[in-house]
This record gives sequence, C-alpha cells and structure tokens, in this order.
Amino acid sequence: MKLCRYNDQKLGLVAGEQLIDVTESIAAAGEWRWPMPPGDRLIAALDAVRADVEERRKWGFVQLHESVSLLSPVANPTKVIGAPANYRAHIDEANADPGITFGTTTSAIDEYGLFLKNPVPVGPSEGVALLYTDRRNDHELELAMIVGRAAKDVSEADALDHVAGYAIGLDMTVRGREDRSLRKAIDSYSVLGPWMVTADEIDDPDALALRLWVNGELRQDSTTANQIFDCRKLIAYASRHYTLYPGDVIMTGTPEGVGPVRPGDVMRCEIEGIGAMEVAVRAAG
Ligand code: MN
Repeated sequence: MKLCRYNDQKLGLVAGEQLIDVTESIAAAGEWRWPMPPGDRLIAALDAVRADVEERRKWGFVQLHESVSLLSPVANPTKVIGAPANYRAHIDEANADPGITFGTTTSAIDEYGLFLKNPVPVGPSEGVALLYTDRRNDHELELAMIVGRAAKDVSEADALDHVAGYAIGLDMTVRGREDRSLRKAIDSYSVLGPWMVTADEIDDPDALALRLWVNGELRQDSTTANQIFDCRKLIAYASRHYTLYPGDVIMTGTPEGVGPVRPGDVMRCEIEGIGAMEVAVRAAG
C-alpha cells in the first residue's frame, strides 16, 4: 500500500496514477491526550489505519496524484537518522574531491557512526530552500526506512520486522567544515517522499535501484546492494544507540554521483519499488 500526506493534511492512497482521498481513515489511529508518547501516531497505528483505508477506498474522491501537493509521508518523526559514508564508491569520490571533504579523509560508516538530521522532513512539493547559495549544496539520494514501532537493541535477524515502510530520502548537504548536524539539518534539507510504500511491498530493501537526475542530467545511478551496512545492520546499529519510535526515519546513505544544485534546479529521484518524485530547489528567504 502506498500512503501519502498531501495538500492541507490529507491522507491519500496512491494506486497507479491515481490518488484516493482516505483522510477519514486518520480517525482509525485513535484519540490521544497530552503528553503524547514519542513518535508518529498514524504510523504507530498503521495496521488499524490500513484496515480502515481498505474499507474507505471505494468511497474516496479520486484525482491524479500529480495534481496535488505532496508533503512528507511522515508528519512527526522524533528523529531522522543519517548514515554517513555507507557506499564505497561515494567514499572514493569524496576523498578525490576537496570540495566534499574540505581537507579531511573520509572513512567508512563503522568509524563515523551515525548523525541526526532535521527531524521535520519536507515533502517533494515543498522543495529545498538553500540557505547558503554562495556555497556548495549537494544532493544525496538515499533509501529511507520508516520505523513502525518502538524498539531498542534490535537484532539484525529481526530488524526488518520493525520497518513500517520505505520512501525516497534526500540528505541535502551544504559542504564545509561545520559539524554534520549543522550542515545537513538546515530547514528543508531533510526531504521525504513521494509517499510511504508499506514494507510488505518491498521484498528486499538491499536490492533496489536508485537514480537521481538534475535538470534531466543523470547524476546518481546505483543500487542499495552496494551499501556497506545493509538495512538490517543499520537498524540494529541505530537501535543500540537510540530508542527507535514509530515514524522515525533512517536514511541509509548515498551512492556516488553527489553534486551541487542551485536555485532553479529540479531534482528527479527514483527508487525501484517506491516510485519517483521531483523536488525543486530555490534560495531561502
Ligand atoms: Mn547522506
């Protein structure tokens, strides 16, 4: 099932080119009172929401999904986790380009650990607003895993049982010497979309083709099979450090081909089994 959030906080079911309004199914997530437990309440109640969506889909207003404004499919993650240097060919390109590394040597994820991005992702229709247009801002296309339930110290064997679904992620990055959490967590530098594909539709998240174009030029073209830490290992590793909550997002790292974008550019992102999204770039402010 492909679920999206769109326009004015509506919930949509995506079926081919169509989007069916199933906003009323949000009520199936139940009522809650302050203080809410950490995490996204809709994702936490996904089984009940899905069952309700199956009931309502035949009654919902239908339109083309291209005609709506797509928001991040997850409204309230507690965190968006980033995986640095998780593809060997990206590490090699970084070490060959001082515009990426700024004089440091990039090693692999097992030395870097993880980092945290802006926990309020934007959707594709909201676009990316570059804060420093006089500096290099790179696209990093990444598979994004969306956590389904609270978990700590998950084993690799059980890891994928904790995934509610998958989406396309963009780990936008301004290059420079500042800490990653400044450069990669600027408003709008976490992009998630175009919808969440529930985990049952993805047989193997470690075998998905992913591609990114800028203004029609192919920049990134790889497969998640090239990840150094595969999806199971990333979940186990992340959950050893951070309790994972429903709706938390793990961006799994970028393959080679990262490069700069400028105001006016349009990024097209595709991941096999999920779909495609276009994201416009503008200057902030
Ligand atoms: Mn990244």
